[in-house]
Amino acid sequence: MTDTQVAILGGGLAGLNAARLLHRAGVEFQLFEARDRLGGRILTVDATGGPADDGFDLGPSWFWPLMQPAIGKLVEELGLPVFAQSSDGDVVFERMSREPAQRYPGLRQEPQSMRLAGGSGALIRAMAGTVPKERLCLGSRVTSLSLHDDRVQLTIRRLDGGEHRVNADQVVAALPPRILAETMALSPGLPPETSALWRETPTWMAPHAKFFALYDRPFWRDAGYSGTAQSMVGPMPEIHDATTASGEAALFGFLGVSAAERRRLGEAALAEACVAQLVRIFGAEAAAPHATLYKDWAADPYTAAASDLNASGHPEFAASWVEGPWADWLLLAGSETSPSEAGYLAGAVEASAKAVAEVKRRLRTEETLR
Ligand SMILES: Cc1cc2nc3c(=O)[nH]c(=O)nc-3n(C[C@H](O)[C@H](O)[C@H](O)COP(=O)(O)OP(=O)(O)OC[C@H]3O[C@@H](n4cnc5c(N)ncnc54)[C@H](O)[C@@H]3O)c2cc1C
Repeated sequence: MTDTQVAILGGGLAGLNAARLLHRAGVEFQLFEARDRLGGRILTVDATGGPADDGFDLGPSWFWPLMQPAIGKLVEELGLPVFAQSSDGDVVFERMSREPAQRYPGLRQEPQSMRLAGGSGALIRAMAGTVPKERLCLGSRVTSLSLHDDRVQLTIRRLDGGEHRVNADQVVAALPPRILAETMALSPGLPPETSALWRETPTWMAPHAKFFALYDRPFWRDAGYSGTAQSMVGPMPEIHDATTASGEAALFGFLGVSAAERRRLGEAALAEACVAQLVRIFGAEAAAPHATLYKDWAADPYTAAASDLNASGHPEFAASWVEGPWADWLLLAGSETSPSEAGYLAGAVEASAKAVAEVKRRLRTEETLR
């Protein structure tokens, strides 16, 4: 059995921000991440689909520093280069299958959506670099939390199937409340209202899937297209230019097909339909991508809970996320629990900073009482 002052559950943006802030404050912590990689919903891959230092964002790709200063400030502090989403040129609207797509001059987006050079994964790499590597435990799924003598005992299952236990003074759960409610055993149990709040909070974007077509060059720009398209025909209702800062050309779209239907159709059929749509909109050159990428977040058990598959929507504000016997030991810090930017990258930064401020206050109070 090992001991730590603070156990952080989850190595997405919120968990890593909590780690960074605790480390800066000189508080001892261990972070436990179920997957064998950091980043959570942030996932940047290369043309083969493997995690990459420069590539395509299968999860979030945009942030809005003017509207969401929390993420803008963090990106600036970490010194990460950014660039604006490419949107110069015409946009296309597909209204129905029996009429050709219509083309309109695009409007300049205000405020502009910004992207990170190298992809959103650059943020995760930079954050991970601010804390000692040995504090980040990958392939370590927390399966239960139990309260004993004013400390929390965590059970951790490793990828090799082995289990071990860790004691912590405080726990920061930096993951979607629904995942917490549906996959973790808490002893003593939660009051019914807290349990219901966690279960009813949708995980932002969990029911969605993204498709990418990678090309040798951004041919649509030559023809005056921005790469932006909207469609009521599908399968992608929304399409954008996904060309990287280093010039790797790509288009991406969100799938407008339900999670159940996507599972039934399978990736190959969906990819074929997506490429056919790109040909309808951008012409014959779109027919031969040198690679395609597909990520269905609804099929990823560390992001989507069973109840996320049908229900979408933004998480709602809650004044208190933990009531009852856990109120003094457990803090929720995932993006969904942010008071002002719930679901967004900015929300993950805000919610985790708020949780760390409270942990520091609690630990100081304990010191004073001793
Ligand atoms: C397709 C898509 C597009 C998006 N686009 C945007 C965008 O353009 N702009 C924007 O601002 N936001 C966007 N988002 C939302 C953004 O990705 C999230 O707000 C943010 O990444 C959430 O970070 P988080 O750390 O709170 O949660 P997560 O990234 O979900 O991290 C939680 C972590 O906890 C881990 N975990 C789960 N269970 C356990 C367990 N039992 N034990 C240990 N670890 C566990 C998970 O593996 C995961 O790593 C998008 C999301 C998706 C899926």
